[in-house]
Amino acid sequence: MIEFKNVEKYYGDFHALKNINLEIDDGETVVLIGPSGSGKSTLIRTINGLEPVQAGQLLVNGYDLADKKTDMNKIRKNVGMVFQHFNLYENKTTLENIMLAPRLVLHRDEAENKRIALELLDQVGLADKGGNLPKQLSGGQKQRVAIARSLAMKPKALLFDEPTSALDPEMIGDVLSVMKDIAKDSSMTTLVVTHEMGFAKQVADRVIFMADGQILEDDKTADFFGAPREPRAQQFLSQVL
Ligand code: ATP
Ligand code: MG
Repeated sequence: MIEFKNVEKYYGDFHALKNINLEIDDGETVVLIGPSGSGKSTLIRTINGLEPVQAGQLLVNGYDLADKKTDMNKIRKNVGMVFQHFNLYENKTTLENIMLAPRLVLHRDEAENKRIALELLDQVGLADKGGNLPKQLSGGQKQRVAIARSLAMKPKALLFDEPTSALDPEMIGDVLSVMKDIAKDSSMTTLVVTHEMGFAKQVADRVIFMADGQILEDDKTADFFGAPREPRAQQFLSQVL
């Protein structure tokens, strides 16, 4: 469970998140959209503590991230993040990329760790690429490794920040297809920043629209695409659809 209560975030004097109130239940799939600079990345980065917040309450699985005493490692174990630019370890093989964090953070048994990593590679369609270095993979393959790496930690929630924006069009489908499977898995909470409106329509339970650091609309997917209430959301949709 992720819950924002009156959360405020500043970068110096710049007010990046304004009075954010938001609840995401376990297992929900939520898509976050909005114009460039509206605060989407900032919002999802606060959820695993990559960006501190200055006021309000931000509860993730019961821990308050606005409280400086909260142990961030406990949060990060349960909240995975997939970035636009993959952030793989370039000098490690695909398999090693996936096995590293479970070994170091969870102290997972090595044989079990490998079994899970191979299973995940298969799940993302890369069963034969375990020995490849990242530079020996296409962009779409790298992103699927990054997703497998996050899944290996068995997180309760997975956050995606524009995971397909850096990919060539022909690579996007395979990554979205892996993400759709994750979204359908009801044990995982999924929050996705994306411009892929087809993906949002197909798998999101809710759509959140942000502008200027505020949440302007938070609706069930069908309601949002059927008739967004906010003029700025209508305008945004007319540009991206
Ligand atoms: P995009 O669609 O372009 O990725 P976004 O909605 O993800 O945009 P954010 O990256 O969250 O937007 O940025 C929100 C605002 O905060 C922007 O005005 C940005 O300039 C500002 N901002 C982001 N990171 C920092 C930072 N580290 N220091 C100062 N300002 C920042
Ligand atoms: Mg962003």
